[in-house]
Amino acid sequence: MSRPPQARLLHSPPTPDPARSIGILGGGLAGLALAALLGERGHAVTVYERDRAGGKLRRVTVGGLSFDTGPSLLTFPEVWQTFLARLGEMDPLDLRPLPGGLGVHHTPFGAVPLPVPPDHPLHAAWETYRTPLLDLAPHIGTLLTTPPRLGDPAFRRASAALFRAVGGHLTAGSWVRARRLPEALAHAVGTHALNAGLAPRDAPALYALIPALVAGNVARPARGMSQLLDTLTMLGAVRGAQVHEQAEVVRVDPASARLTLSGGEVRRHDLLVSALDPARLAALLGRPVRSPVARRTVSGVALYAALSGPAPLPFTSVLPPADFGTFRAAVRAGALPPDTLALVHADGPRLAVLLTAPATASRLGPDHPWVRAQVQRVERTLGVPGLLASARDVLALPPSHYAPGGHPGGAIYGAALSPWRGGPLHPQPYRLHPRLWQVGTGVHPGGGLPAILGGALMVDALLAERRLAPR
Ligand SMILES: Cc1cc2nc3c(=O)[nH]c(=O)nc-3n(C[C@H](O)[C@H](O)[C@H](O)COP(=O)(O)OP(=O)(O)OC[C@H]3O[C@@H](n4cnc5c(N)ncnc54)[C@H](O)[C@@H]3O)c2cc1C
Repeated sequence: MSRPPQARLLHSPPTPDPARSIGILGGGLAGLALAALLGERGHAVTVYERDRAGGKLRRVTVGGLSFDTGPSLLTFPEVWQTFLARLGEMDPLDLRPLPGGLGVHHTPFGAVPLPVPPDHPLHAAWETYRTPLLDLAPHIGTLLTTPPRLGDPAFRRASAALFRAVGGHLTAGSWVRARRLPEALAHAVGTHALNAGLAPRDAPALYALIPALVAGNVARPARGMSQLLDTLTMLGAVRGAQVHEQAEVVRVDPASARLTLSGGEVRRHDLLVSALDPARLAALLGRPVRSPVARRTVSGVALYAALSGPAPLPFTSVLPPADFGTFRAAVRAGALPPDTLALVHADGPRLAVLLTAPATASRLGPDHPWVRAQVQRVERTLGVPGLLASARDVLALPPSHYAPGGHPGGAIYGAALSPWRGGPLHPQPYRLHPRLWQVGTGVHPGGGLPAILGGALMVDALLAERRLAPR
């Protein structure tokens, strides 16, 4: 990838660190992002991936159409810009705002588009909700990319802005109630806590702010999310990072920074970084793995349908459950919620439906009665009965699809952290041993793309400060 001279000027020079050999476990987006950053510092990086690079993000063909599976939106694009600035690269992604922002939320109290447009009856209430958070918005990039240290003035300013925005509220539910929002808007806002399997009354207050902070700033690469994968791969490759696919790591010895591959081959590096789910890493370290059922997170059944023509739908529709408490109780019990959180993207003849499900690695297929009932609810609510049945072809990816390479229950964002470790103000366990660090879904609160890119930036900075491990 070319490096325009003007971009180079923005770039802080690589730390004069002695070049080391670094092995990264897992070629998901977190592992690939970190590979590019460490390659930029001159290290010899090798990524070991058990399957195909990209992890949850994949390009598949359904009914002759190309679909990108896994993440569908890039929120907080400033984190991506910070990542590129660290590499001294211009943005090759051509990020486009998603039409309709976070989409139309079909609450039991009426449909609410987020952001709420000026001609909508709820616009004034939306402004009441959003305006006090304007002060926080410029600090989000700092919170997501900077190690939480009060000695750092930028972090101090950002955390002060977060404290001001959250006020004395511990939970998202209490924060929303204090705003006295109309119930339709409160329901739409509260929906965003459910991605972590938490009802607003259990979710940290920060979750209630997210729709305001991201609603007008949701993007996706012009040529689809897989362009992010291609770009990360290329950014690493031009910095010498090698990605070995079909290379499953079966054992890790932190003391010697050795890893064993499934064929028995042993590789030694100066340092290892795990970009795996913490439960997967625990198994490789020979430690006991806790129950695969995570109670504070969710998985999902993703349906990718090739239609004969464009669906008469907005780009994004969100169907929250009618009752957050019932949803939470079901997810905690590992049971299927009676009406689940559903996310629908309609992009010409491509239709993607994500039905949130408990993280139990279940094999829910398109013909399962629960899946059929949820699809019918989606179609009824959106006024398109029989849409999926009319599709030329449908691919269903259930929780069991996400489990082998990620969280054992197939959690979309990894297991949610407990409240005292969640949020951007808490140090994460990046360094497990002087020769073994970790990045990725499992160690970043929220676990989506901004959190994993931000986490890779933090780990890169922390490693550079420590000049890596002893040889
Ligand atoms: C349906 C769905 C929708 C989503 N929507 C969004 C969204 O809109 N926006 C957003 O920001 N995020 C979204 N996410 C979350 C986002 O996809 C993840 O946060 C991100 O992809 C995680 O990247 P990762 O590299 O941490 O983990 P993973 O992608 O899980 O990568 C881990 C990698 O490690 C490999 N691996 C595992 N074990 C071994 C081993 N023993 N040896 C070698 N390799 C191994 C796996 O094969 C995998 O490639 C979504 C996720 C899903 C599933």
